[in-house]
Amino acid sequence: MKAYERNIRRVEPYVPGEQPQRKVIKLNTNENPYPPAPGVRRALERMDTDRLRLYPDPEASALTEALADYYGVGKDQVFVGVGSDDVLSMCFLTFFNSEKPVLFPDITYSFYKVWAELYRIPYECQELDGNFCIEKEDYYKENGGVIFPNPNAPTGIYETLEFVEDIVSHNQEVIVIVDEAYIDFAGKSAMELLEKYENLIVVQTFSKARSMAGMRIGYAVASPALIRHLNDVKYSFNSYTMNQTSLVCGVEAVKDKAYFEQTVKRIVDTREWAAEQFGKLGFVCLDSGANFLFVTHPEHDARELFEALKEAGIYVRYWGSRRIEQYLRVTVGTREEMETLFEFLKHKLSR
Ligand code: PMP
Repeated sequence: MKAYERNIRRVEPYVPGEQPQRKVIKLNTNENPYPPAPGVRRALERMDTDRLRLYPDPEASALTEALADYYGVGKDQVFVGVGSDDVLSMCFLTFFNSEKPVLFPDITYSFYKVWAELYRIPYECQELDGNFCIEKEDYYKENGGVIFPNPNAPTGIYETLEFVEDIVSHNQEVIVIVDEAYIDFAGKSAMELLEKYENLIVVQTFSKARSMAGMRIGYAVASPALIRHLNDVKYSFNSYTMNQTSLVCGVEAVKDKAYFEQTVKRIVDTREWAAEQFGKLGFVCLDSGANFLFVTHPEHDARELFEALKEAGIYVRYWGSRRIEQYLRVTVGTREEMETLFEFLKHKLSR
């Protein structure tokens, strides 16, 4: 080993779902099958490219204001970043600095472990129960912080506001982050708890319900004090995280509440229909509050199904990791895409 090689930071990176270049039915990375709000397209068409000579507003004021108005919180309670991945990573760096371990579920968004390793934060995974549910009592012990998604990923299971509050109230000495990437497809957001708990951070994204994964916009809502700390770390890292185009399009997306609600409803309706179809084919489908379904078949190997689907140009997500090696995560696409999926599965399973 060369001397300098000893000083290289080695990490095991997060592995994102495939982005195939050929046209496929893409149900593998929980993108929204519908386009962003019409105002986003109009904003892009009107875009003044001369503005791109200049750096964007480092405070991302227009977007933070739009989000603050939408949620009825102060502008000083909103932090925006390059997708919720950026926001969550900043949160790890800013708030998880204890010698005690940060707690998160064993089956969850696999990026948590990657950030903990990258920033050398001690962590301890808490096993989901036999039904893939979070056991809230696991989070009553001493720790250096708590993070979990609600709904959880890749299970899709949504926990009630009372459940979330129970975890927050048992952890008032540390920062608790609720990752609500999929909340719009589920139910009540933990944002309601912000007035009561100054140690709570709620993180959401434009990538799922707002159909803008390609724009990379995420945000955190929390007390002004926590947002100030996040900004201090951000400005120590990169002042201009949000590009001009994302800022303009983000504001347009927030404005169109009717389109947002209509798109979410379409996806939730398709999800409920798809869950029924999976059931008819003998799959076991976890109750989902997200824009995906986590499914297993008692008689058919998940890896084999994954490979066969891929061969047929239908991409779903498969991990093959402990406890979930017989599960597939299927994003809810359009009704037509899902019909093609079920047509294929019907033939495949009957062979
Ligand atoms: N949290 C969870 C639970 C997710 O599944 C994802 C999507 N991969 C993210 C955060 C990050 O999404 P984005 O960076 O696109 O906002």
